[in-house]
Amino acid sequence: MKIRKCDRCKNPYDPYEMEINNDCANSLGIVNMDMRDNVCSGVYYDLCPNCMGDLVAWMKLNEEE
Ligand SMILES: [Zn+2]
Repeated sequence: MKIRKCDRCKNPYDPYEMEINNDCANSLGIVNMDMRDNVCSGVYYDLCPNCMGDLVAWMKLNEEE
């Protein structure tokens, strides 16, 4: 498997799958949307398990509503 490098902390990491909102993820994509909800552009980031965990906690993505 390919070793990845975290775009946030720059540490290398092995590919992983983390459950987020009942699905699996190991990187992050952010899209820009206009005021009519059309996707204009997007960027993708590789995140290590620690940085992805920090993001999930900060966004409260796995919390029940
Ligand atoms: Zn990281």
